[in-house]
Amino acid sequence: MAESFSFFQKVNTDFDKAARFTEYPRGLLEQIKICNNSCHFTFPIKRDDGTIQTIHGWRAEHSHHILPTKGGIRYSTLVNEDEIMALAALMTYKCALVDVPFGGAKGGIQLDRREYSESELERITRRYTYELIQKNYIGPGIDVPAPDFGTGETEMAWILDTYITMAPDKLNAMACVTGKPITQNGIHGRKEATGRGVVFGLQEACSVVEDMKQLGLPPGLHGKKVVVQGFGNVGSHAAQFLMEADARVTGIIERNGGIYDPRGFDIEKVAMHRKETGSIRGYPCTQFFENPNDGLELECDILVPAALENQLTAENAPRIKAAIVAEAANGPTTPDADKILQERGIMIIPDTFLNAGGVTVSYFEWLRNLSHVRFGRLGKRFEDQAQHAMRRAVEKATGYQFSDNELEIIHGADEEDLVNSGLQDTMINAYQEIRETRMQYKNKNNDVDCRTAAFINAIHKIAKSYMQLGIFP
Ligand code: GLU
Repeated sequence: MAESFSFFQKVNTDFDKAARFTEYPRGLLEQIKICNNSCHFTFPIKRDDGTIQTIHGWRAEHSHHILPTKGGIRYSTLVNEDEIMALAALMTYKCALVDVPFGGAKGGIQLDRREYSESELERITRRYTYELIQKNYIGPGIDVPAPDFGTGETEMAWILDTYITMAPDKLNAMACVTGKPITQNGIHGRKEATGRGVVFGLQEACSVVEDMKQLGLPPGLHGKKVVVQGFGNVGSHAAQFLMEADARVTGIIERNGGIYDPRGFDIEKVAMHRKETGSIRGYPCTQFFENPNDGLELECDILVPAALENQLTAENAPRIKAAIVAEAANGPTTPDADKILQERGIMIIPDTFLNAGGVTVSYFEWLRNLSHVRFGRLGKRFEDQAQHAMRRAVEKATGYQFSDNELEIIHGADEEDLVNSGLQDTMINAYQEIRETRMQYKNKNNDVDCRTAAFINAIHKIAKSYMQLGIFP
């Protein structure tokens, strides 16, 4: 396939590859694949200097097989209709794969947020939200946005406030958007969720002795050398949790260069430096790269692209040295690069699975908003007391005294414990299902890669819900 194919065509190529392994009627497969709705909004905003500028925004709802639809809103100069439709489609497959009951959607505004003041961004976000409301593209049971590249909690708070202002009597209005600040009905652990999910997913993949042996690696994350591309919300949290899981983050790449140190970085210190100076440039390291692309080709065990799409291409794929490519970003590998990497025996852990942590915890936030109660509120104190009564009984019966470290984990679960436990369980189950599918085909002498297996699983799950709707036989 030529690399000039659009992002949405690339997603559909992966879909088609997997669809060949299923026996669903062509019409059903077409219905799953197609993007149901997409809308282009243009509106004027007055800049701080008094000039008027036209802003371009989009929202695409890829699949309504389950409602609401769900997906982030990104602010980037690369945003266009094709990109938004592709990302919305990836949301559909991602949600299906991890059993999060949403259809896929995505939105975006074409801008570089660094060129706008805070109050300009607020005006743009609020106006975009009005457009969504007016066109029926937002609502707790309709379509629920979330953060994505270039957006975060603050934008979500503006979206919430705008929506609530327009619908003050709606009891569930606060479930109209996720990724909100904790003080605005957000949930603990949402900000870190995508990065944490990446590490839970990697931990599971790396625990399979047989698969690691094939890659010439020992099982587990311990000591594995990792290069992370992107140090935004996803990349920085993934790097932090990788370090905590005993992996060695030896390379970090940003848009204006990369840093390398074979001893591994202390991620908190790098994050601090970045916060103070605005960049990872100047952080003490063995080697600094002016050209960020060079960082992708560093010697390592795991390469984690956590930035934007189309980073691994036919051009650089032959020189990638990692044994595992862990797709924390959406669509970082082009189909040509995918083919080259697979042929070279590199394992690709696909985006549809690996970055599903964000939407998984968004689902928990949405449930929390609909139930109007914080997770753990009812049971925490009771569990605390029960566990401590049990501890005292064990200590009395055995004479053993629990250490302070052991006592730390004896407590009733609070919201963050529950969120992380639900996230870990989700990532483990989804990976096992992907692996089962691979094994099933391997037994029939078909080598199915992780991405194709993930798409096969997603297609089965979406097809099942269409059939439950009674539309297809
Ligand atoms: N933007 C994130 C993603 O691409 C999260 C979406 C959500 O939470 O709805 O998965």
